[in-house]
Amino acid sequence: MRLVVIGADAAGATAASQVKRAHEDWDVIMFERGRWTSYAACGFPYFVGGLVSSMDALVARSPQAHEKRGLDVRMRTEVTEIDTKNRRVRFAELDSGKNGTEAYDILVYATGADELRPPIEGLEHCRFLQNPGQAAALHGDIAKARRVVIAGGGYVGIEMAEAAHMLGKEIVLIDAADQLMVSLDPDMAGYVREAIEARGIEVRTASAMTQVSSRPGGGFAVETAAGTIETDLVIAGLGTRPRAGLAADSKIPLGDSGAVAVDHEMRTRTDGVFAAGDCAEAWHLVKKQWVNVPLGTVANKGGRVAGINAAGGRARLPGIVGTAITKFFEWEISRTGLNQREAEELGMEVETAVITAKTTSGYLPGAAPIHVKLLAEAGGRRLVGAQIVGGTGAGKRIDTLATAITAGMTADELIDLDLSYAPPLSPVWDPVQIAARRL
Ligand SMILES: Cc1cc2nc3c(=O)[nH]c(=O)nc-3n(C[C@H](O)[C@H](O)[C@H](O)COP(=O)(O)OP(=O)(O)OC[C@H]3O[C@@H](n4cnc5c(N)ncnc54)[C@H](O)[C@@H]3O)c2cc1C
Repeated sequence: MRLVVIGADAAGATAASQVKRAHEDWDVIMFERGRWTSYAACGFPYFVGGLVSSMDALVARSPQAHEKRGLDVRMRTEVTEIDTKNRRVRFAELDSGKNGTEAYDILVYATGADELRPPIEGLEHCRFLQNPGQAAALHGDIAKARRVVIAGGGYVGIEMAEAAHMLGKEIVLIDAADQLMVSLDPDMAGYVREAIEARGIEVRTASAMTQVSSRPGGGFAVETAAGTIETDLVIAGLGTRPRAGLAADSKIPLGDSGAVAVDHEMRTRTDGVFAAGDCAEAWHLVKKQWVNVPLGTVANKGGRVAGINAAGGRARLPGIVGTAITKFFEWEISRTGLNQREAEELGMEVETAVITAKTTSGYLPGAAPIHVKLLAEAGGRRLVGAQIVGGTGAGKRIDTLATAITAGMTADELIDLDLSYAPPLSPVWDPVQIAARRL
């Protein structure tokens, strides 16, 4: 049997390794158009910010390490066509210019996502952070810049604001929306904004970037809906879009989200083809919809399930609830389930509660503030969403709430959970339970 995998990062390499572990005698060929395998894109901001010494340090398994485990790794080789009828892929070697084809019995499509590039004049002047090459380029460019504009106040924008601040840059963070972090409700995003401004970073919301032009003497002018900003460097983190074009061209059906449609076993609607990761959909347990959530957590789990099933085993990815976390210096920011806007879009009536407490017993030094917001269905009080912004120890509390939402628990059941307590780690009522009581 021969397995071909397109893409050698979180989803693809996980699937390939899973299959090789199950069937040492199978041919497993992994195509990767880049120069790295199994790299942590999540670590790019910390490499750019100087906390991680090299790109190589972000690599969990190099091409050579994959080869040692028996995988046939084709680096700098792009799959350009998939013939699903005859089960063949066509590929191009990017350095030698040679083309070829390879047959497969089973294919795993794990091509990831591209950065969003809206039609903004001069966007080519911006630096992005979606792949290792871009991270390496930005690492070089940021060293030369004094003033940095970051366009996009989502996860990448916030992490890059922290990185640029650690490097001593003057920073303007802009966003088209009326708030930062649109995955949070405006009240919770307000705490994030306060934390960022407290570090001397200028935040401009309702400031869509409309044009970037280079200045003759060096530097750039960023035109926004609310004025012009002069800068040495523009970093754009405007979102992503599933890299599903090759699948669509090969008649592998896409879902409504624009990502490759899969079932709970990560099978596409094309025989012998699995898909996983940023290029594929996942079932949202609260929305009850197939969605595209481009996160490493989802990609690794999807890759594992695709690999087990491709190897002839049985595994399912029941679904996700959209749990995500980041940090800005001492502030931890996390969310899960639905926010108020998403609930409204689904026509779901929700009740909400927001509390402010401490991460530890208040009498101890180091007790930090924590803000918790809970959303529950009106009436039955089934939990459907949560957001946390707080100091050290706050953010990972979202995992309790993700678990509660996945289990279909109500706010009343959360109050009764036997959660842990010791003064240096928590108040006797954990803040998530204080929020449940308020609700
Ligand atoms: C800056 C940044 C920070 C992030 N932080 C977090 C975080 O904190 N937490 C979190 O959960 N997620 C985070 N993510 C998201 C996470 O990195 C991705 O969800 C994850 O990498 C997706 O894995 P993947 O295998 O689906 O796709 P990718 O990692 O994009 O890998 C796909 C691979 O396929 C290759 N490829 C594409 N097309 C072809 C082709 N035709 N032929 C051959 N090769 C091809 C690409 O070169 C690429 O290497 C972050 C992402 C970025 C960019």
